[in-house]
Amino acid sequence: MQKNIAAFRIDDIFAASKVNEAYGKDYISLGSKSIPVSIISNFLFMKYIPGFRKLSPYREISVSEWEGIFAILKNKNARLTVGVTATWVEKDGALIPFFEKFPREAEILRKALRDGIIEIANHGLTHCVIGKHLPRLFSSNRSYHREFWDWIPMEVHREHMKISQELLGKYFGCQILTFIPPGNVWNSNTEKFAFEYGIRYLSGRESLCPSGKISNGLLYIGEANVIAFHDREIILNGLHWLENLIKINADKKIVTIKELGETFVDA
Ligand SMILES: [Zn+2]
Repeated sequence: MQKNIAAFRIDDIFAASKVNEAYGKDYISLGSKSIPVSIISNFLFMKYIPGFRKLSPYREISVSEWEGIFAILKNKNARLTVGVTATWVEKDGALIPFFEKFPREAEILRKALRDGIIEIANHGLTHCVIGKHLPRLFSSNRSYHREFWDWIPMEVHREHMKISQELLGKYFGCQILTFIPPGNVWNSNTEKFAFEYGIRYLSGRESLCPSGKISNGLLYIGEANVIAFHDREIILNGLHWLENLIKINADKKIVTIKELGETFVDA
């Protein structure tokens, strides 16, 4: 594999966890001291108070922001893997396919895919455990904003892989090859189902999926050569943040996860 190559990856597109996940901070800083506060901060309304809350709800990237992102990428001859969660989970647990919930945003992604600017990756069907996804009164709901836990029945792993692959593949008109497990949680059964439904690359934390290793037919793409971020960074920091990220990686060729994966196969 080449040294001067990196994949850009953005996660959480169309994932309802961005509005349903609520948990308090573990520590707050007072001067130079860190005070543990998770019991207080997860108590009732405290997690909704700025300063005690680690993660605030945020919105989807808009159509005009996507246009800006694609213009920046095109200009720098860079590409991006976009991790899409295939359904939006409503408060009552109903699942809405991403292209029904966000038709205009989905359409512009499809166009960028056809233009060769992005790769679409599978970032789960729900990003959460359905029925456990709403904020809780006395504790963090963070762990429920992961999808492929060991304690979830394996048939559910299979169903979620199958339906997400079908929704994404059908809408985007291509085989989806890359899987980004939500919150870096998955097991070997998830891998087998992923392979069965067409996935070939798994991208996650390097310590959990060391780059170049093959597991259950999937090529692991850890984060050694991946610059992974979330839509949240774009929402909070604006498009300049992305421009800057490209600038500080100017010595590298910026590609997709799939393209990075192909360099392993060729080696
Ligand atoms: Zn995620």
